[in-house]
Amino acid sequence: MDKIKIEKLTVFGNHGVYPEENVLGQKFLVSLVMHTDTRKAGMNDDLECSINYGDVSRYVKQFFEENTFKLIERVAEKLAESLLLRYSLLEKVDVKIEKPWAPIAIPVESVGVEISRGWHKTYIALGSNMGDKKGYLDEAVEKLKNHSLCQVGKVADYIQTEPYGGVEQDVFLNSALELRTLLLPEELLALLNQIEAETGRERTIHWGPRTLDLDILFYDDCIIDTPSLTVPHIDLQNRDFVLLPMAQIAPYYRHPVLGYTIGQLLDQLKKMEVSDDRAQ
Ligand code: ADP
Ligand code: MG
Repeated sequence: MDKIKIEKLTVFGNHGVYPEENVLGQKFLVSLVMHTDTRKAGMNDDLECSINYGDVSRYVKQFFEENTFKLIERVAEKLAESLLLRYSLLEKVDVKIEKPWAPIAIPVESVGVEISRGWHKTYIALGSNMGDKKGYLDEAVEKLKNHSLCQVGKVADYIQTEPYGGVEQDVFLNSALELRTLLLPEELLALLNQIEAETGRERTIHWGPRTLDLDILFYDDCIIDTPSLTVPHIDLQNRDFVLLPMAQIAPYYRHPVLGYTIGQLLDQLKKMEVSDDRAQ
């Protein structure tokens, strides 16, 4: 992706672990690499199509004046987050913060931190088969919409599906949605678990009835295998209650492990179901 850079912007702030740093303040050097598509601005010669680096510089100065943190890790984290929320054309930002006069009593040219933060494209599966199913799905969508670090995109129609996994239970209402988020995978999982808990989810039987189930289907093109998280979501290619809603909102999205698009995976599943029916 294209980049717009600001190098060594000198700003004054009171960040620091030591009380005298908070009182006296010191200079910080801020460098930003803003990842954004500059093609439209390049073709049209129109500032409206780009990120105004003058505006960004003034905003960074103001950010330093209005906030006081102990750690430059925190300064970098919150600055990256505010920039990503403020500039809609900004996809990713590298933030470098240097303290040229760090109080460490040994001569040093500068100390600093450098981080990269950005928006992630994810897909979430929603399911409910107890009580007011539509109400639970609506509530989950609303809570995600209201979260400051999440932006809900397309939401698939709610569809009724048969239970999966052999436990005798009521039919499900399923959906899927597109979510842009600044949360990292484990943080997103924690948020989904929190929303499930708030909507009264009881975890009893594995694959059993639930008021609300929220799963991460995809997170960028990431492949994650940890004890708490498997992404892409396990076995989704065999689950029509995942593929049907996904086909509505992202038919061309390609599964990063299997190499097929959602549309292709759905076709394959339908063919398998037809041949299973014939075999019976
Ligand atoms: P399931 O969704 O498989 O029907 P649960 O909702 O009870 O069952 O989830 C059980 C565990 O699955 C969660 O505690 C979570 O840590 C784990 N898990 C692994 N990968 C994912 C994922 N991609 N999305 C959501 N949960 C996941
Ligand atoms: Mg789940």
